[in-house]
Amino acid sequence: MIRVGIDIGGTGIKVGLVDENLQLIGEGTIPTRTDIPFEEQVKAIARCVTETAAAAGYRRKEDIASVGVGIPGIANADGEVIKCTNMGWFHMPFREVFRKYLDVPVFIDNDANVAALAESVAGVSAGTSSSVFITIGTGIGSGIIINGRIWNGFHGIGGELGHVILDLDGVPCTCGNRGCLERYCSATALIRMGREAVRDNPESLILRSAGGDPSGIEARTVIDAAREGDPVAVRVYGEYISYLAQAVASVVNLLDPEVVVIGGGVSKAGDFLMEPLRKEYPRYVIFNDQPMPEIKLAVLGSRAGVIGAAMLS
Ligand SMILES: [Zn+2]
Repeated sequence: MIRVGIDIGGTGIKVGLVDENLQLIGEGTIPTRTDIPFEEQVKAIARCVTETAAAAGYRRKEDIASVGVGIPGIANADGEVIKCTNMGWFHMPFREVFRKYLDVPVFIDNDANVAALAESVAGVSAGTSSSVFITIGTGIGSGIIINGRIWNGFHGIGGELGHVILDLDGVPCTCGNRGCLERYCSATALIRMGREAVRDNPESLILRSAGGDPSGIEARTVIDAAREGDPVAVRVYGEYISYLAQAVASVVNLLDPEVVVIGGGVSKAGDFLMEPLRKEYPRYVIFNDQPMPEIKLAVLGSRAGVIGAAMLS
């Protein structure tokens, strides 16, 4: 018996087969197609599941306990995708259509929630009953696990740490508001801060590493220059860490989970990110004379999407 996880991404859709020991035992991929009708998209996904399972020796639908889907968007408990802008899905009956092609239990949730679930079952926060997962990439994704289950709010729209407002008159956000946390804590934010800093400090290693072209500055450029001790990069990175520490502290002040898990592209900085973050976040926590959550690095990486989706129930 296997469980199947599906990770709907911008360029590809990944299918993973997970066995009873939470091990990934088979994988398949199809390209993301937004130029075909919804029904065709779902049919192609169902076919990929059937083929991937068959290749691993699971040919009957009875072999598949469930199928879970992680989407960059929101869905409801009826298996309907409410909103998934990247795919062009708005109020689409995913479960109903999928089951025409493969009649097994189908569950859908937000991709960051799914990754949070994966880490809490098979990753760094395994064994805990409460955790918050923060993924730092182009934006900020987050997932909340309470009593071992995803908490995405009464109306299914919660867990959006990235759009907690840090600065009312702050940097405009893709959501239409200003000053959202993700404008200060994402990789995109670090890039912006790096580019702004080199305007007045063209001698900085940040700019030299980018070949003298500010548009070539990436999050890694700033992080590496800070690691080298470049004063401008050290200042920018320190400021970035402060914002991130405020984000973590807000999570702690609001939810006080057992563990806060940090994942996503920026987390590849490893200890260079985690050590200052662990040191700094308590100053923003109100009851910081009490025991506080551990801050841990995610361990499942890109596998979290399919593993977590397979865990949905
Ligand atoms: Zn926003």
